[in-house]
Amino acid sequence: MIDDEHKGSNNIGNNFVIQYPIFIKSRRGGLLLSIGGYTFSRHCQLSNKFRWACTLAKRQGCRAAAYTCTKEGQVIECNNEHNHPVKGEEQADARYAESASFKLTKRGNLLMNLEGFSYSQHKSYGNKTRWECTQRSKARCKAAVVTLTETQKILRLYGEHNHS
Ligand SMILES: [Zn+2]
Ligand SMILES: [Zn+2]
Repeated sequence: MIDDEHKGSNNIGNNFVIQYPIFIKSRRGGLLLSIGGYTFSRHCQLSNKFRWACTLAKRQGCRAAAYTCTKEGQVIECNNEHNHPVKGEEQADARYAESASFKLTKRGNLLMNLEGFSYSQHKSYGNKTRWECTQRSKARCKAAVVTLTETQKILRLYGEHNHS
């Protein structure tokens, strides 16, 4: 049975995405608005609302903006369409989504196998991990892979193997 009353109840403009806003302190002490992983900084005050602009508005030319009520502070309008991904959330390379496999060595090191080559964990920085070809010292191979530490999804491959 189709409930007609609930049809069209999601009549929200395409640009208006209801997501819970979070107010966060920036590193410089300013107030930032965070919606769906994107951050906005307060831009100006209009009659009864504040306009918040994407923090990458200037650098990226991003035109996403949010409006909050000056009194209650809730988000009343939001264009959360950005021309860039959420900061720090790099897109994994879909080509390698299924092809990597991992195994532990007898010494307890984690090895990654990708397209017939094996890599050992080199170091982690930020939310990423760098893996280097296990033939690095033997064959002076400079191939490397960078993954997202948390999910081990592959972000990028660097260099080419000089061995088979
Ligand atoms: Zn933006
Ligand atoms: Zn190699």
